[in-house]
Amino acid sequence: MAQHDPWLLTPGPLTTSMTVKQAMLHDWGSRDAGFVAINTHMRKRLVDLIGGGKDFTTVPMQGSGTFAVEAMLGGFVGPKDKLLILINGAYGKRMAKICEYYKRATAVLEWPEDQPVDPAKVREALAADQAITHVAVVHCETTSGILNPIAEISKVVAEAGRKLLIDSMSAFGALPIDVNSVTFDAVAASSNKCIEGVPGLGFVLCRISALEKTKGNAMSLTLDLFEQWQNLEKTSQYRFTPPIHCIVAFDQALTEHEQEGGVAGRGGRYRNNHKILVDGMRALGFETLLPDRLQAPIIVTFHMPADPKFVFEQFYDGLKDRGFVIYPGKLTVADSFRIGCIGRIGETEMKAFLAAAKDVLNGLGVASGRPHNKAAE
Ligand SMILES: *Cc1c(COP(=O)(O)O)cnc(C)c1O
Repeated sequence: MAQHDPWLLTPGPLTTSMTVKQAMLHDWGSRDAGFVAINTHMRKRLVDLIGGGKDFTTVPMQGSGTFAVEAMLGGFVGPKDKLLILINGAYGKRMAKICEYYKRATAVLEWPEDQPVDPAKVREALAADQAITHVAVVHCETTSGILNPIAEISKVVAEAGRKLLIDSMSAFGALPIDVNSVTFDAVAASSNKCIEGVPGLGFVLCRISALEKTKGNAMSLTLDLFEQWQNLEKTSQYRFTPPIHCIVAFDQALTEHEQEGGVAGRGGRYRNNHKILVDGMRALGFETLLPDRLQAPIIVTFHMPADPKFVFEQFYDGLKDRGFVIYPGKLTVADSFRIGCIGRIGETEMKAFLAAAKDVLNGLGVASGRPHNKAAE
């Protein structure tokens, strides 16, 4: 590998370590005892990350993160249930779309993409509609990078006697989600975000007592969470070919996560990346969509600069030529673009990125990244 791969400042897949990549340089049979042991170990380690003890289990699901979210909703929300979906971005909307396919009863509460979910509104909605059995929320809405208050939301949901399902895809492993501070029946995440593995595996951490009651709910053979779990428990095997290389690399990524100090260590590095990025971009005149208090240290949305000489495609290509991949915006509330601070990157890469951004702006003749309408805060 003479030429270095680009640094991925995106919401995932992300830059991975060389040792994670090297873990994939073997052929394994899916019934290989060594692989089975790694898979069992991986499942246990994920339960440990949420302090789940004997009450929780990991059900891995082949595919990207959305496969895990779909398996979670399709498994936990039964034909007689009703799901309240809390939406403040594209991933909340995606959960609503999944429920349309499954023809499950739903209700929706929606906020603008730059506003967090409001637990008080959730409380009102649950009091007003007794048919609601479950609530679904996104932990960090990657659309904007906003952090939703899942501990407060979980409190409201538990007090109302309902069950919580969480999409923690872009936060899991970097922001704490612990069974002692957040009450939930299931949380979905994937191999290729803050754990820094390669793409190919989603997983759902499930409360066993709740999972036991989901038999027969799934309307998809491949995404049947209950059957996947039963099969893994009984035979230690996947029902269908697992992404073996991805799982072995994921286990290596979990070792490196642990070596870095677990969630606190990983989150600490990302917070540092985030600070360097935001301070540096602000020094170049750019403004963030979100005030700092709403922002998760995962991915940052910046307003598009006002200077007509700033053409996003040229900025993007210039950065790509200098070895950095950023991400277009996905917002409806503002014209924007996004820069991630997760993956196997640190201070050196963030500082090199800022130097590259400055260089590209100079090349375009853009004096400042200042947007049209100054951000609110
Ligand atoms: C990345 C992500 C997903 C899953 O996306 P895939 O492309 O299926 O991996 C789901 N929810 C959130 C919040 C995400 O950031």
